[in-house]
Amino acid sequence: MSLTVLSLPQRYKRLLQAMSLAVAVVYMTLLLYQSAYGYPGMQLQPQLSSSLLDGNEPATTTTQHASELPVAAAALQLVAVASSPSPSPITPSLIIRKDIHSFNFSDIEVSERPTATLLTELARRSRNGELLHDLSQRAVTATPQPPTTELDDIFISVKTTKNYHDTRLALIIKTWFQLARDQTWFFTDTDDHYYQEKTKGHLINTKCSQGHFRKALCCKMSAELDIFLESGKKWFCHFDDDNYVNVPRLVKLLDEYSPSVDWYLGKPSISSPLEIHLDNKNATTNKKITFWFATGGAGFCLSRALTLKMLPIAGGGKFISIGDKIRFPDDVTMGFIIEHLLKVPLTVVDNFHSHLEPMEVIRPDTFQDQVSFSYAHMKNQWNVIKVDGFDLKTDPKRFYSLHCRLFPYFSFCPPL
Ligand code: UDP
Ligand code: MN
Repeated sequence: MSLTVLSLPQRYKRLLQAMSLAVAVVYMTLLLYQSAYGYPGMQLQPQLSSSLLDGNEPATTTTQHASELPVAAAALQLVAVASSPSPSPITPSLIIRKDIHSFNFSDIEVSERPTATLLTELARRSRNGELLHDLSQRAVTATPQPPTTELDDIFISVKTTKNYHDTRLALIIKTWFQLARDQTWFFTDTDDHYYQEKTKGHLINTKCSQGHFRKALCCKMSAELDIFLESGKKWFCHFDDDNYVNVPRLVKLLDEYSPSVDWYLGKPSISSPLEIHLDNKNATTNKKITFWFATGGAGFCLSRALTLKMLPIAGGGKFISIGDKIRFPDDVTMGFIIEHLLKVPLTVVDNFHSHLEPMEVIRPDTFQDQVSFSYAHMKNQWNVIKVDGFDLKTDPKRFYSLHCRLFPYFSFCPPL
């Protein structure tokens, strides 16, 4: 080889030398560039090495960086799960989406590919565990996920009765119904052309009996459940007609959970699980069981996954038979089916409120964060929220005032 080169004319030798020099310069430039900027998209690894894979050697070659990248992404998602306040396992991607809500976007504007400065900052902060949380969000921000739950994924059912159309239903229609007209359905016990028209056909005559007794209430709940199942929506949310539903907050709440996981979200009104005695025909003693149930008067939501499990035992009107068997009201029957029969625990969401709680303790600065409110008039006294706005004569239930506080642009609200 060297002999052949030596035998070449001088000018070829010079050319070869020049070419070698050029190759060396290009190689050196590349090395310098890598040491300054690293390999694009491969900078997550050092953070994982230092805080997740404690004690493991950091990857040393570019090939290792590249091949371990998917593992890095998966590890980031797991960290998001571990650090999430969510009450139970949801798919990692959903958790990340949930975290995005609490992330302060003004903190940093993420470019498509992290810059050297951002990465340096990340590397510094990665030594404390919290960073990976932020990091996963930044990684996700670069490739936005579609929203998990939107208003149109929710079926909102409101139980009402003929005698409450002019009082309770009218109030709902003027306020929060306007924010969920296509998603809200009223389950009543009569035909009513006036409100049928006001709700654009969203009044359902269940043909259940009128009256505040167990069978009538279970009959309506059964209809609500069956019509939800037919709707194909992702979430079933029941409310009473003395509830105010904070629609955007409801959507935000459900967005934190997956409709394909079994979820029973609501709030009990008792401090310990309900204890009931089931008749047992084949035994001399009655069987004692305990379970929690979400108070119907505060509202509750069920994921589609859970309702599909309920379908064979409680669908198609069977809900009424179960209520008949245990002889308890509709919300208790719901708890019995879900907690006792299906063994799906109630997830307590404190932001639901029934009038079994004193409404005045809900602080106005937290109104935006509450999912539901209620009111009651008992012993000549109103149990209502304390909110500035219309006078007590005009708005004894305080829902107009609440609505204007949450959505001041409504036409009936006083000018700001
Ligand atoms: N309700 C009903 N039929 C009646 C009375 C009440 O369907 O004859 C419904 C009412 O519309 C409400 C729920 O049952 O959605 C609870 O009724 P209410 O608030 O009057 O009583 P509570 O159980 O809260 O004391
Ligand atoms: Mn009530």
